[in-house]
Amino acid sequence: MLKMDKFNNIKGFLAHEEGLFLYRLTKEYCLNGVAVEIGSYCGKSACYIGQACKENNTHLVTIDHHRGSEEQQLGQEYFDPEEFDYKKNRVDTLPTLLKNIRKHELDNFVKALVGDSASAAKNLEDNLDLVFIDGSHTFESARLDYASWKGKIRKGGILAIHDIYDTEADGGQAPKEIYEKALKENFELIERVNSLVALRLIG
Ligand code: MG
Repeated sequence: MLKMDKFNNIKGFLAHEEGLFLYRLTKEYCLNGVAVEIGSYCGKSACYIGQACKENNTHLVTIDHHRGSEEQQLGQEYFDPEEFDYKKNRVDTLPTLLKNIRKHELDNFVKALVGDSASAAKNLEDNLDLVFIDGSHTFESARLDYASWKGKIRKGGILAIHDIYDTEADGGQAPKEIYEKALKENFELIERVNSLVALRLIG
């Protein structure tokens, strides 16, 4: 466990306890198959998941367009000049993601897929062990992510969702909306750590 403290230094919007939770889920549920993450950013959560994949000899596909979310654009609240490519004149988080995966020796277990989540869902295999939704927080994106991926999880597999806030004052409600939808559609909550929920498909 101690060795994973290093992942907590990676830039990102994930608490260390949430990262350890993702590691634990992956260790338990991704034994032979594939884990998928929607929203890579700089790879913080991908390293916790990827470390478990490495130990299980499985792999993670982490999907992101790498152009930043709405609130990470130039002039917005979470703009980060280190992740802005001044030549391309846009946010580009892919170099940092790749650098972090390589630095932590997870290149053989974490595959970066650049593109949008709905298109990726059409091209990736079914029967996934674990899907972690941590993408854009607009209602449109969250609903599309859920609709695109809910049918790709194997029976008994895990749907994890980040940024669940109980009230609007605490944060955006789109992740919570899809979480509540999942509870009505054959998923059951198995555990919650901070704003991260894990649901299991009961089939
Ligand atoms: Mg998040």
